[in-house]
Amino acid sequence: MNGTARVIRGRVLSFTDDPADSGSRAYSFIDNGAVLVNGGLIEAVGEARDILARAPPDALVNDHSDSFIMPGFIDAHVHYPQTQVIGSYGAQLLDWLHNYTFVEEQKFADPAHCARVADFFLDELFRSGTTTAMVYCTVHPQSVDAFFAAAEARGARMIAGKVMMDRDAPERLMDTAQRGYDESKALIERWRGRGRLDYAITPRFAVTSTQAQLEAAGALAREFPDCYVQTHANENKAEIARVATLFPEARSYLDVYARAGLLGPRSVFGHCIHLQDSEVAALAESRSVAAFCPTSNLFLGSGLFDQARLIKAGVRIALATDVGGGTSYSMLRTAAEGYKVLQLNGQSWPAVQALYRMTLGNARALSLDDRIGSVEAGKEADLIALDPRVTPALAHRMEAAGGDPEVELFALLALGDDRAVRQTYVAGEPRKGLDRL
Ligand SMILES: [Zn+2]
Repeated sequence: MNGTARVIRGRVLSFTDDPADSGSRAYSFIDNGAVLVNGGLIEAVGEARDILARAPPDALVNDHSDSFIMPGFIDAHVHYPQTQVIGSYGAQLLDWLHNYTFVEEQKFADPAHCARVADFFLDELFRSGTTTAMVYCTVHPQSVDAFFAAAEARGARMIAGKVMMDRDAPERLMDTAQRGYDESKALIERWRGRGRLDYAITPRFAVTSTQAQLEAAGALAREFPDCYVQTHANENKAEIARVATLFPEARSYLDVYARAGLLGPRSVFGHCIHLQDSEVAALAESRSVAAFCPTSNLFLGSGLFDQARLIKAGVRIALATDVGGGTSYSMLRTAAEGYKVLQLNGQSWPAVQALYRMTLGNARALSLDDRIGSVEAGKEADLIALDPRVTPALAHRMEAAGGDPEVELFALLALGDDRAVRQTYVAGEPRKGLDRL
């Protein structure tokens, strides 16, 4: 970490709560603001004149006065090995896995390939303003080592884990219940809690794991309660029918995971679209997290996430790209597609609620809100500068926004993407590559 202090100037936007619950009291906005960062942490936030006055004389000053300064985005569900199958044509979930994903993931037996893709993936996240993600690797332990090594070299806060699969996949992508347990355990012992890294126990989903493997994953979760659990649930109707055939004794898809001890406050279930009422109740009771993956759900034709139903039941929700079933690395694009999904369900999503979800909301969903997710003294200095006038179309649109930040933020969310990210600071260091300061 760089010891030099840095002042990042801009229009500072940060959340203290969910605007759905607390309205405008849930966020603060300093139009002519600045953030003082030092040693990887946020030291002070306030009016630019005050922050500049207290900054050490040798502090670097990065002026993004026309941009919003926000916490880095957090992506709660994404697959780093799928960067070369993103945008593959014409399949729904089970065919998509077999035709594209399972072919691609075999390349990760090669550590050099793992390293090259991990580098690309992390740089692409930073280009898109994402500074923390919860990441699926492949079945190969070397894919996890490569990912964590690349994240560590960049000083990034990342969660990841080895996929566990012991059936219904190509031979070269399968472990066994015992091998999945042993390899996961060795990776946990190597990487968990090292610097800014955390481990997620990662059975891919109930179709590709036997009962024995799910139980092994549950045993790991009990043995290492500070690890996360990530998997997929209730994404696609054919998948749900397959799970019902494979686990006839279970009352529902989610019950398969419940029986294996995989529900809990550190468990993130991707998709959660076609849920029975008992499954919604089980998610809420266990404090498990449902990850809303709108671009993926639209692209694979999986269905429409019912956010209002889950919120009403008290289910914790996160937002995620699900690259490569998802079609964008950008959380802005993801939220814009999320807005459209909710519109199709007759639901609304103001920009401040979506931006909360991408920052403090996802930090809370991942139990990381004591470290990241807001622009606040003492938090880790993962910050982005978002320029609402970065393209001609955006600049033209903003002429009619009258300087109202809520109007600007909604238009930025609806029209923005990685181009709007002027800079991404990871632990206080500029990482976007472009206009590196
Ligand atoms: Zn996924």
